[in-house]
Amino acid sequence: MIIKPDSQLVADLIPSPNIEPRQNGLRPTILVMHYTGLPTAKKSIEILSRPDCKVSCHYVVDVDGHVTQMVAEEMRAWHAGASSWHGETDINSQSIGIEIQNVGHNQGYPDFPHIQMAKVRDLSVDILNRHDIPSHHVVAHSDIAPGRKTDPGEKFDWPFLHQHGVGHWVDPVPVEEGMPSIQLGDQSPVVTSVQTKLRRYGYGIEVTGQHTEESVTIVSAFQRHFRPAQFDGAIDQSTIATLDALLETLETGPPDTIV
Ligand SMILES: [Zn+2]
Repeated sequence: MIIKPDSQLVADLIPSPNIEPRQNGLRPTILVMHYTGLPTAKKSIEILSRPDCKVSCHYVVDVDGHVTQMVAEEMRAWHAGASSWHGETDINSQSIGIEIQNVGHNQGYPDFPHIQMAKVRDLSVDILNRHDIPSHHVVAHSDIAPGRKTDPGEKFDWPFLHQHGVGHWVDPVPVEEGMPSIQLGDQSPVVTSVQTKLRRYGYGIEVTGQHTEESVTIVSAFQRHFRPAQFDGAIDQSTIATLDALLETLETGPPDTIV
């Protein structure tokens, strides 16, 4: 149960019962961005509070920037589900989850208003600073659960957050129309190389050398986050060059954190 907010940006405290201690002494080293996919923040908070729904998150940020804290940061919230990042699978024990109010892809997927993004930025800066989480440890739910999730989606303003030290970003290399690309089922050393690099970046992808359905899904998740102009999962030059540039600019965190 939360008795006081962890951040000065919190306007409301609505505790969720769906919590437990972080396992194995794990601490937050990852910040996970979500959208709610529900009609209103009120409805989202209701769902995130229901014991039978078995979901929760640390914060909900409404479209007008109103911040509600639901789980104390020291506790494990249930927002990530089955997920993987850098080989770690208990992401809930090592992360803080922010649910951003947006009705989602099934309901027209509106833009995130600036006032909302600005509050997500302020809250994220505050969280990263207090837990000493490196900026590139900010991920989309779709990055850690690419087969199940597409949130917060291609409209999420990662470049804006990055300008303020939240998240990793390089300007994506433009997509060139009509260039050859690697499609579902193709097998080649380029596929091996891209899969290896995505794995190094953190994605839970198997290195098989074949662009399987799973591989397409994960490349698409990568594109949705880092090359949102096109996220069809095909491996093209723009995807490869953007991934290379990201790996080159990765800051190295302290040795006890995930790099
Ligand atoms: Zn999510």
